[in-house]
Amino acid sequence: VSRSILSVAISRPAWQVGPFRVEGPDEDPFTMGVEVLRRLGGSVRTAGASELHRVHLVGPFPPEADWGFAEALGLPGLEIRRHPTGPSGLWGALAAAAHDAGGPGREAVVVADSAGPRENAAWGASLKWGAAAAAFLLGGERGLAVLRHGFRGHAPGRGPSMRAQILAWLDALSLPPTGGRGEILLAGDEEAGRWLPVWEEVAPGVSVASAGSDPPGLGPAPSVRPAFLLWDLFGRLRTGETGMIVEVGRGRSGFAGFRLEGAVRWVGDWTEPGTGIRPAGDRFLERAATASAVSQGAYVPHPRYLENLPSRWRLVADRCPACEGTTFPQRGFCRHCGASENLAAQLLPSESLEVEAVTTIGSGAQPTEFDPQVAATGPYDVALVSLAPGLRATLQVADAPPGQLQVGDRVDTILRRLYPMEGEWRYGLKAVPRAGIAESSAEPPAGSSRAVATTRPSPSRSRSPSSRSAATSRRASSRRSASRGRRRRRAA
Ligand SMILES: [Zn+2]
Repeated sequence: VSRSILSVAISRPAWQVGPFRVEGPDEDPFTMGVEVLRRLGGSVRTAGASELHRVHLVGPFPPEADWGFAEALGLPGLEIRRHPTGPSGLWGALAAAAHDAGGPGREAVVVADSAGPRENAAWGASLKWGAAAAAFLLGGERGLAVLRHGFRGHAPGRGPSMRAQILAWLDALSLPPTGGRGEILLAGDEEAGRWLPVWEEVAPGVSVASAGSDPPGLGPAPSVRPAFLLWDLFGRLRTGETGMIVEVGRGRSGFAGFRLEGAVRWVGDWTEPGTGIRPAGDRFLERAATASAVSQGAYVPHPRYLENLPSRWRLVADRCPACEGTTFPQRGFCRHCGASENLAAQLLPSESLEVEAVTTIGSGAQPTEFDPQVAATGPYDVALVSLAPGLRATLQVADAPPGQLQVGDRVDTILRRLYPMEGEWRYGLKAVPRAGIAESSAEPPAGSSRAVATTRPSPSRSRSPSSRSAATSRRASSRRSASRGRRRRRAA
């Protein structure tokens, strides 16, 4: 059994606080994870050999995620595995998805971080990092192969000699220090600078580069930042080359190896996310609502909530064979002729839905279960959207200031927190303005000639209308920084 990384998607919340993108009060790692899996596209929903059969979670996912991913994706047999937060969790999850026996289908690794509050400060006084989610799809085709990884802890200042450690890492990936097809990306804290000269002395044949600053809009988020390291390493590799991400820090060190064997799709904005929506009020980050809060709003019994999830989360309708009518939401009988036999589940479209009417709910006019949300983000819109001829849904609008959405606009649906009830979060679909998702189908250049590295990068590195040029400029810029690293080494 061996699967490679075939595509990787990134998704960030729409809200902006200080330098970071931050999840809204109706988002959490579960909703961000569902969204980023959706961005991988139809590849995760197809039946047969490409059907997703296992999802590995890295990050602070709520308990609802254990059953929620299967329900949200409509894959009842989906297995969920949880891994520790942070880089070791991500490398371990990728290795498990690549090498563990399982079904014949594909596996995904979903990694997410919530925004991190600074210690000894009230929520929102300041943040250490922002929020984001990334999803890796692994399958049997050739892509980015997952090699060995490992971590070790040691007392501060009493680690193994840097020279011995570097030789051990190279040996783990069968990279000869005297030369070979390899690129090393060195990531770490303030100690990283001390390692560079040792690398240059011990392994003059491999290219070593320092990881750049933390990803814009995200900062040092513990679990998603390593995904950006992999994006950075990918940009340095040519087909057939082995790369390693090495992390050194106080008290621990680790490595993760990869080999580029085929194309990898990178979906979403891996470069500059742009500026998000700045919340109007100071209470955005207070997060007063918790799952244990008692909602004063409309009571939906738990069994009925679970029973209606296919309609609530995936827009599943019933198609009646007797009269050919469609019933949505599902009721167990046909609303046209009353038949209850042989109803067939039918998936209604969930993207690019036309807005037929839109209403702004002003502060105080909302149902009480939405009080905490209004306190955080203010008034909101509710849209009546057309799902199919004669079938409509009323959806709360998310990620848009009230009044922005107009009749005739197109919206996508997205799973979000609604309100807490009976000790857990209830989730449902909301509407978000339809926006294009950047995609770079990055085909690594064939051959080993490094002369291509001089390709001039395009002036725009982000939000490029042509998905390919974003990938090209990214690769070119990575090559340039890598060659700068080599020049530095020769000068030393
Ligand atoms: Zn009927």
